Amino acid sequence: MTSRLIVILTAVLSLVGTVVFLGPAAAGQGGAAAVNYPAATAVRVGGDNQQTRFVVDLTRKIDVTTFTLADPYRVVVDLPQVEFNLPSKTGDHGRGLVKAFRYGLVMKGGSRIVLDTNGPVRIDKAFTLPPAEGHPARLVLDLIATDRESFLRNIAVNRPVHTAREHPAPPPVADSDPRPLIVLDPGHGGIDTGARAASGVNEKAVVLALALALRDKLAESGKYRVAMTRGDDTYVTLGDRVQFARSRKAALFISIHADFLPHKEGQADGASIYTLSEHASDAEAARLADDENKADVIAGVDLSAEPDDVANILVDLAQRETKTFSVEFARTAIGELKTATGLHKHPLKSAGFKVLTAPDVPSVLIELGYLSDKGDLKHLTSPVWRARTTAALSQAIDTYFAPRLAGAGLSRR
Ligand SMILES: [Zn+2]
Repeated sequence: MTSRLIVILTAVLSLVGTVVFLGPAAAGQGGAAAVNYPAATAVRVGGDNQQTRFVVDLTRKIDVTTFTLADPYRVVVDLPQVEFNLPSKTGDHGRGLVKAFRYGLVMKGGSRIVLDTNGPVRIDKAFTLPPAEGHPARLVLDLIATDRESFLRNIAVNRPVHTAREHPAPPPVADSDPRPLIVLDPGHGGIDTGARAASGVNEKAVVLALALALRDKLAESGKYRVAMTRGDDTYVTLGDRVQFARSRKAALFISIHADFLPHKEGQADGASIYTLSEHASDAEAARLADDENKADVIAGVDLSAEPDDVANILVDLAQRETKTFSVEFARTAIGELKTATGLHKHPLKSAGFKVLTAPDVPSVLIELGYLSDKGDLKHLTSPVWRARTTAALSQAIDTYFAPRLAGAGLSRR
């Protein structure tokens, strides 16, 4: 026993010795909120490929729950809502068993840290400490390398207790309003930033700004009801986005994104619109759908219980009519967008996007442009461009619904 204790102590000391400081506290920022949330002010990762300690400094002690997810290997730490006052690139690179990590809101009142690990790990310890002797409150997570078999066995025993999925969408609104419902779906959010420009501009913020502007523009006309899958910086799972539109019997679902093409893969710019298909229209569409479908993995959502087969959904007969409507709206929107913004050289494409799989709601995914392109980036952050683009999309929605609304107001889509 004694020798074992010494081994552990030595291990802990060696961890402390190799701790690397990943960033200074940006304390004091964001303290103006009405609710005084605890804040994370610094993160340190220390250790090696056998054991790694992950420490977060906090402005006060909080309760945390942890769990692990496979394929890819992840450790998820769920916290109450926390303000992350950390430098922008914190988490891009880890140390030891931690390859990288990210953090942010997953729901109102709930934040999360997701660590990507280099292999299967065991959570040896996870605890928080109150402030003491000049040290701030801390979250401490000790990870130890393990084998895949033990890792999977451990997951089976400790199923996640706190996941974003446990918080169902609010009940659908009453159906008495005959106007068609348009669901706007700003991609990503919270812990999932989406694509990131080198300048620090995030996809999640760009697409939310556009969706809010489009919502206001549509509400102005009075012709439609408008609902948003998210109206702030929280994460919504892909499945919940689809379910949100289905449960409300939406007449149209518009998912809004912005793309990013790494420099080594060439250059691309302009907007494009995607509809659902089993086989991607080209390699770039396939790559993009893969990227966008990773959102739940990034947010640390447990997908083990979810069906994951776009092909099966496509067999659904209802889908065929839905697909025709989706393509019709996509074409109409491209026609309008070309007067407002630059278009990609092949602006109309299709691939297996999970977020477009509602069999009964016409659905499109708009990539507004490329955060990797200088010209596009300038547009994407410009209020003038945003106004022009929302006007074009609003016109496309009017054109698409005109014959439907003219039909004695009975048709919902
Ligand atoms: Zn996206």
